[in-house]
Amino acid sequence: MIVVEELTKRYGPTLALDRLSFEVRPGVVTGFLGPNGAGKSTTLRIILGLHHPTSGRATIDNRRYDRIRRPMHEVGAVLDTDAAHPGRSAFHHLACLARSNGIGKARVGAVLDQVGLANVAHKRVGGFSLGMRQRLGIAGALLGDPAVVLLDEPVNGLDAAGIRWIRSTLRSLAAEGRTVLLSSHLMSEMALTVDHVLVVGQGRLLESASVAEIRERFERDVLVRSPRADDLTRILTGLGATVTVGPGGEVAVAGMDASAIGDAAAAASIAIHELTPRSATLEDVYLDMTSKAAEYRATKERTERP
Ligand code: ADP
Ligand code: MG
Repeated sequence: MIVVEELTKRYGPTLALDRLSFEVRPGVVTGFLGPNGAGKSTTLRIILGLHHPTSGRATIDNRRYDRIRRPMHEVGAVLDTDAAHPGRSAFHHLACLARSNGIGKARVGAVLDQVGLANVAHKRVGGFSLGMRQRLGIAGALLGDPAVVLLDEPVNGLDAAGIRWIRSTLRSLAAEGRTVLLSSHLMSEMALTVDHVLVVGQGRLLESASVAEIRERFERDVLVRSPRADDLTRILTGLGATVTVGPGGEVAVAGMDASAIGDAAAAASIAIHELTPRSATLEDVYLDMTSKAAEYRATKERTERP
């Protein structure tokens, strides 16, 4: 498990992280989400011991990264896809990485297979597409068979097939009981990949919830179609719901859930042709959260200035 506690990081005048705290559990894919500049990469670098926090701490299974004796066996990370020398082959790159970390050569073939690069193992990395470089980065992260996998914006610039591949790879890593954390600035590409989201804005935690919880919490209204829309509207309004009739005769009902609406219609023998709970898209929810954080920060800075 990864634990981040009250992490603060200043770069000169920039407050990149502002008392950020969260936990990342094993067995699920966790998305670390926030707009550009929110502090995602800074957090991952601190977890990996590459940057020092101004205050607070980040631990992996109760230890700071620099106290882990064989880090590649415990934590695999991809922060940058261009880490491999362009003149080397994928196989050579991974073999060097394995040798310098005391990892047996058999793992090189295994991870090349796992990421689907076995057939280009002896081609120069310089000729690889972005998607192939992403796969090679992930192969490197998996070399030591680590229990924790951290990826910074792994789907950036990938095509649909690449995104689908990353999605299924991360899901199977989590299903094996590993801790998987990936960052992204786009909710749309995370919605189908992650189970849990941590949303950050301006270095602060805005939300930690399962994707299902967020969908439920932001359920907006229920769309109802009925040949007796007028009668139904009168009944639902009488029960305290807010009802809006749309141009096609469809009825949007807020303040009552689908089963209560269905029961009320049945009690009045009104036929229902459609009953659909509608939620705000995850993208809407995310944009709303992050823009509120920006407004809050702007107000706070204005009022705190003498
Ligand atoms: P994200 O990965 O969410 O886009 P970052 O962690 O890269 O965000 O950046 C958070 C903030 O910290 C930004 O304002 C960024 O400009 C600043 N920052 C990040 N790294 C440095 C650095 N090495 N020096 C100065 N400022 C930095
Ligand atoms: Mg970043």
